[in-house]
Amino acid sequence: AKDNGRNSFQLYSPEMNIVSMERLIMQNCLRIALKKNEFELHYQSKVDHQTQEVVGIEALVRWNHSELGRVSPAQFIPMAEELGLIVDIDTWVLNTACQQRRIWLDAGVECGPISVNISALHFNHDLVYSVQQALEHSSLPPHLLELEITEGCFIQNMKNASGMLAEIRALGVKSSIDDFGTGYSSLSYLSQLAFDTLKIDCSFIKQVPKNAQQCQLVTTIIAMAKALDISVVAEGVETHAQVEFLSDKGCFVYQGYYYNRPGNAMQCTDFLLEFDKS
Ligand code: C2E
Ligand code: CA
Ligand code: CA
Ligand code: CA
Repeated sequence: AKDNGRNSFQLYSPEMNIVSMERLIMQNCLRIALKKNEFELHYQSKVDHQTQEVVGIEALVRWNHSELGRVSPAQFIPMAEELGLIVDIDTWVLNTACQQRRIWLDAGVECGPISVNISALHFNHDLVYSVQQALEHSSLPPHLLELEITEGCFIQNMKNASGMLAEIRALGVKSSIDDFGTGYSSLSYLSQLAFDTLKIDCSFIKQVPKNAQQCQLVTTIIAMAKALDISVVAEGVETHAQVEFLSDKGCFVYQGYYYNRPGNAMQCTDFLLEFDKS
């Protein structure tokens, strides 16, 4: 469709070619990244503000490429989904996270369950099998593993999703709804599903307590979760003002720069040991 009018000429502009060329290079690099061992996990704590205990740790994937540098997961995860690589990447993450949690368990470091992000594609693929494999290979007790699932997993097939969550619970593995509030599902609808925790998306926390509307929204989510007996974690908590607002509303578990930034296994171990002493 090279010649059908002036709207198509952009397809062939030099800028466009550079962008698609870069994309192509990145895609090819991504295809071989697992084999070349270029992924690394970073870990970030979830802290109970009342007891000052680490009640969970989230594993966040990092991609370090020799020439492309550090590519953000926000950029390469959607690409991995498109290319059909996400199940392999998520499975690697799941196994590595379980092994790391097993190391902390053996060392007597208490930090709650390790949580892993599960993409919608993986959720609808062979999730229960990968989870069982990861638990077996690491001999990690199931209650020390948690899966973070976004509302996107439920859009395609609600019945399938509810069955999957029940299977995960039957294994003894925990689950949470990630980025809560950014999807379309209502809390009462979600409450029929077998999950343990919901994570309020950092985009809502960001403008608390300055923006009255966001404050109202966060207050409502916390109140409804309490009424339904679901635990709540606030993501992206950075400031003391946010901590004051959230604890006033009855939400006490925070994940964010206020307590710590994601770091590699060694940095996270240092944080856990230091935090336990204080
Ligand atoms: P997410 O699951 O919502 O993870 C939280 C993101 O917020 C992380 O970004 C984390 O570094 C960042 N964050 C934590 N505390 C703060 C804070 O106080 N302020 C701000 N501004 N940000 C904070 P990250 O690591 O870049 O990950 C981005 C997204 O990529 C994740 O969002 C998740 O959706 C996805 N992702 C990361 N790792 C994996 C993975 O292993 N598998 C899959 N499928 N997705 C992943
Ligand atoms: Ca997450
Ligand atoms: Ca999130
Ligand atoms: Ca302590």
